[in-house]
Amino acid sequence: MELSVNHQALAYLAAAVLFILGLKGLTHPATARRGNLYAMLGMVIAIAATLLGAQVQSYGFIIAGIAIGAVIGAVVAVRIQMTAMPQLVAALHSFVGMAAVLVGIGTFLERSASGGLDALLMSEISAGVVIGAITFTGSVIAFGKLQGLIGGAPVRFAGQHLLNALIALATVALAVHFALTGSLLSLLLMTLLALLLGLTLIIPIGGADMPVIISMLNSYSGWAAAATGFTLHNNLLIIVGALVGCSGAILSYIMCRAMNRSIINVIFGGFGSSGGGGESAGAQAAERGVKSAAVEDAVYWMEDAARVIVVPGYGMAVAQAQHALKELMQQLEGRGVEVRFAIHPVAGRMPGHMNVLLAEADIPYDNVQEMDEINPDFPGTDVVLVVGANDVVNPAAREDASSPIYGMPILEAGRARQVYFLKRSMRPGYSGVDNLLFYQDNTSLIFGDAKDTIEAINAALKGGGH
Ligand code: NDP
Repeated sequence: MELSVNHQALAYLAAAVLFILGLKGLTHPATARRGNLYAMLGMVIAIAATLLGAQVQSYGFIIAGIAIGAVIGAVVAVRIQMTAMPQLVAALHSFVGMAAVLVGIGTFLERSASGGLDALLMSEISAGVVIGAITFTGSVIAFGKLQGLIGGAPVRFAGQHLLNALIALATVALAVHFALTGSLLSLLLMTLLALLLGLTLIIPIGGADMPVIISMLNSYSGWAAAATGFTLHNNLLIIVGALVGCSGAILSYIMCRAMNRSIINVIFGGFGSSGGGGESAGAQAAERGVKSAAVEDAVYWMEDAARVIVVPGYGMAVAQAQHALKELMQQLEGRGVEVRFAIHPVAGRMPGHMNVLLAEADIPYDNVQEMDEINPDFPGTDVVLVVGANDVVNPAAREDASSPIYGMPILEAGRARQVYFLKRSMRPGYSGVDNLLFYQDNTSLIFGDAKDTIEAINAALKGGGH
């Protein structure tokens, strides 16, 4: 069976509508699952319509590629930890970037043999190859940083901006030369320079700004796909690329606002740092004037509380403490305590990370509130339980102008009557910055794995109830 051009166009239209519905669904946790289903259905239609199209001349390589890719993809999908999702996303973006480079160069080689090269096509090839190459090396570096293969600290050197500007200018000049002359040498040099630019743009970025970078690379990968769509005359690829490009750009903007960063600064600034020593917990805490507390203290405060706010962070994901938290919520609600969850836009290691985990534990969406909504309520709250979060409640962002996270809006946990941090050690969070909230009078740290601590709290609450 071979699809006519018209039928293929109709199938592509249906797929495009499903992708848009998918994106719409992903804007709220309650509809996210349905959104994903729409997008998956759209992708099945898109792939089937492409494979049945007249332009496919043999299926051997395609089937082999799909089989190998499906096996690798399935193994990775089953084995991947939720906390390692950002690295996986970075790796997938690098594939999109590399595919755009290969399609661009492949199309050029094929057309220069068969004829049919013109300035327009070569401009499209240039755009796809340049954006794809920047996305590729940028994503590889982002992967390396997130995976801990490359240090997360920003790498700065004199003349960095000038160097980037020069590479960018030379890349554009080569792209123009290639589009006008069809020179293979210009194409290859342009590709090499764009690969280098991806590296020099991303290597200076510090750990704390990685979330925005991932979302920006997502946007780039979309534009690379759209450019490839022009090269291949594939409308669906253009539409999907534009959807990914725009939604990634909007998400980057939202995240920049959430972290009070200018997007230009994130791209060129190279601030934020990462690190943190391996100090031991209790004794170290006392030495530094930090109070550590026992589970019973927190139970004592929470039993009599009217309002409790839980601030989940990356550590909740590591400990997989969400189910224990659900039980804690139910126990406290059973005693008439109001329990809410406060979500910072960059809590965890990817956008929406906390929402996904809380939803997995069936914690009602009504109990989960965003930063702006819940911040005014901290002063009237009896107990804040900070579960494996750190940077997102660090007052250094407000008070210490020299801090790399200065200016980032935070959850105002410190304004509550009593704050308990559930963490394993005195180690800082992702940005490597010491947390000023540890030293506040109303703050205590309960050391240990977050899940174990919450289970102990749950057991103590149950015990107290008898
Ligand atoms: P942080 O990284 O600031 O802090 C996480 C805390 O969890 C640490 O202090 C750690 O302390 C603790 N922790 C780790 N494992 C456990 C465990 N098993 N039990 C208890 N505690 C544990 O996380 P936040 O969520 O507060 O902030 C997110 C940070 O990550 C921000 O700096 C953000 O910019 C960055 N980021 C965000 C991304 C996103 O898209 N959301 C992507 C990439 C980075 P200890 O080791 O002592 O236990």
